[in-house]
Amino acid sequence: MSTMNPGIPADGSNMQNVVPQLKTNLHVCNRSYGEVTDMGEDLVDLMATCQRHTRCSTSYCLKKKKGKQECRFGFPKPLQPITSVTSQDDGEPMVLTRRNDNLLNGYNSVQLSAWRANVDMQYVVSRQTVTKYVAKYATKSEPQSTAVQEVYRNIMKSVDDDDGTPLKVVQKLLTSTVGERDFSAQETCHLFLMLPMVKSSRDFVVLSLDGSREVDDNLEEDKPVTLESQLDQYCTRPDTGDFNQLTLLKFVEKYKIPKKKGDSIIIRKKEVLVIPRPHCSSDPDGPNYEQYCKQQLMLHPSFRQLEQLLAGNDRYIDAYASFF
Ligand SMILES: [Zn+2]
Repeated sequence: MSTMNPGIPADGSNMQNVVPQLKTNLHVCNRSYGEVTDMGEDLVDLMATCQRHTRCSTSYCLKKKKGKQECRFGFPKPLQPITSVTSQDDGEPMVLTRRNDNLLNGYNSVQLSAWRANVDMQYVVSRQTVTKYVAKYATKSEPQSTAVQEVYRNIMKSVDDDDGTPLKVVQKLLTSTVGERDFSAQETCHLFLMLPMVKSSRDFVVLSLDGSREVDDNLEEDKPVTLESQLDQYCTRPDTGDFNQLTLLKFVEKYKIPKKKGDSIIIRKKEVLVIPRPHCSSDPDGPNYEQYCKQQLMLHPSFRQLEQLLAGNDRYIDAYASFF
């Protein structure tokens, strides 16, 4: 990788005089790689026509920074007599390659000769920079589809006709868009290739705390129509020292329900993250605070029967207050 322009002296003098050296009507970018006879001369032409950031504009690279307009790519860049490694403002390392042209983008001569268009090549020596770069492109939003833009425009046009309060406009936007959405290019590729839409290094298990049970697919005469829930399994866990002390939360994290009734409890290969359901707000003034307290008591102290958790109180709110 280099930031040296072979078309000008190594010390950067005469830099302003770099102009396209076109010897034919064909632009250097349109010259095919196979037609190149003098690689050195071709590279000089490519530098002059594609590799220099000669024009900064407000519509592209000029951004306001502390009240001053600056090129977001940092041009013009100071000349560098030698290649050195320095620290960025955040302490991450940065390679400053030898430079004789303050407007030149970094390049690799072999790659540029074949590519025949502008490149911005840089050494990446900071792990944080790689992370930022990947995250930036992975989360880049898709351009909005014309259809949605059209819907917005039509709504905005019709606002004047009725009593267009902001609430009405938002309601209209919502009803027009909530039923439909744009598919991103990435999502479409995943669907075509039948790739999973979500991947996770952890497993999650939903724990029902309201007594609900899964319906058994294999119904038989004189047998319950529902399967045992994790809560049922917990309450009837073996009566041994370790199991006695185990809380419901730890029990679900570590063990799973056997497929067949009567089989012994299975130890999970990897602990899971437990999602208690239904969700209750922890707001003491909220309508479900009694249920929230009951859930917290179910998850954290060990028990075998729900009545134990009340500990003589009439309400779970009081039992919770005295427990924690
Ligand atoms: Zn610029």
